[in-house]
Amino acid sequence: MQGSILDARAKAPGPTPAAAMMLDASHDPSLRSWVASARNHAEFPIQNLPLGVFAPDAGPARGGVAIGDEILDLAALATSGLCADIREIVMVASAPSLNGFLGLGTGARKRLRARLSALLADGSPAQAALKPMLHPAEKCTLGLPARIGDYTDFYAGIQHALNIGSLLRPDNPLLPNYKHIPIGYNGRASSVRPSGEAFPRPKGQRKRPDDTDPTFGPCRNLDYELELGIWIGPGNAPGSAIPIDEADDRIAGFCLLNDWSARDIQAWEYQPLGPFLSKGFATTISPWIVTAEAMAPFRKAQKPRPKGDPAALAYLSPSDATVPHALDVTLEVYIETAAMRAKGLAPHRLSLGTTQDLYWTPAQFVAHHSSNGCNLAPGDLFGSGTISGRDPGSFGSLMEITRGGREPITLPNGESRTYLVDGDAIIMRAAARREGFASIGFGECRAEVLPARG
Ligand code: CA
Repeated sequence: MQGSILDARAKAPGPTPAAAMMLDASHDPSLRSWVASARNHAEFPIQNLPLGVFAPDAGPARGGVAIGDEILDLAALATSGLCADIREIVMVASAPSLNGFLGLGTGARKRLRARLSALLADGSPAQAALKPMLHPAEKCTLGLPARIGDYTDFYAGIQHALNIGSLLRPDNPLLPNYKHIPIGYNGRASSVRPSGEAFPRPKGQRKRPDDTDPTFGPCRNLDYELELGIWIGPGNAPGSAIPIDEADDRIAGFCLLNDWSARDIQAWEYQPLGPFLSKGFATTISPWIVTAEAMAPFRKAQKPRPKGDPAALAYLSPSDATVPHALDVTLEVYIETAAMRAKGLAPHRLSLGTTQDLYWTPAQFVAHHSSNGCNLAPGDLFGSGTISGRDPGSFGSLMEITRGGREPITLPNGESRTYLVDGDAIIMRAAARREGFASIGFGECRAEVLPARG
């Protein structure tokens, strides 16, 4: 165990970090599972234990935990007698949507995590009883882990904001509010879908700069946006606000999020109220909730603001800036065209980004979103905003990579793209790594663009 890190936290002056940030025995890198595929698994070793909702080959949807290439059935675990003392927690976590579990908060998540870690660890006396509760993940269907009451998309990738802003307003790329407000908009929850669900190219009103009138038809400039998804746990009553120092304990976990974007529809509709139909047709997320506890080793203090940037207002300023409110996650975007798929070619990486390029933290999203008295609820979903770095290999959307569609990219098989064509699949992956800890992943966030419907 990383004793020095635990000791440092224990002795840290100032406010106690959120409970979800504390390291415990479940993070021990030497911990191994008796589930053979979990050993050194790139994404789901025993140190991860993400929660989701799955349906096995035959049977209804229920809560489950990813362990290696298997899924542990929480509905079976709840009735097994192996968790009698926390049966109610396991029951809620085994439901076909995890809203109730997310609402229980950090304490319940930590108790479930500690038990799962013990049950699945090498030498567990429960191994024989648990084996029949494992399902091969490849034979299961993964759904949305919760009913998403509300989905909010932020815009915290400052390099993305600069890249897009410089295409739209070369003289004034960053609007004056950006460094004061975590900019966001209320998105569309009903069309958030789990990884694997293809969707038709959206239709809408488009108007090129030279067109005299708009036309209605299939989107011509279909794009993706690489984002971190944030799952909300316990919410707040209408009219109340969540203080910034309590905000991290309202976050249940994280996922990958692809905010599909119809750029031509967006360009015509967005003024003056912002994105609407250009975003609301589909949002794809990875199906596992990587819990706040699993992410504890991969937290970092927010980077100091560059010299000359304004300080955040008090309601957005944690009382101890050394508490690691930010995350260190590496994210990748791949494209797989229909031609690549037909020939069995590997998907091609379009970008590699990091959550350290976010200007605002998830805690600041929570504090800001609730600051006007807006009530957040368990199962609400936030998007971080597109994550882009400074160099083109880290741009999180095609609009940035191709400079607004003006500079096509060539793929290794000779195809070229400005924006997405029918049959293209976009695949996102994420990993959290740190010296001295087991690396964990988020699972895949994938979807294919189908032709527009007649
Ligand atoms: Ca977005």
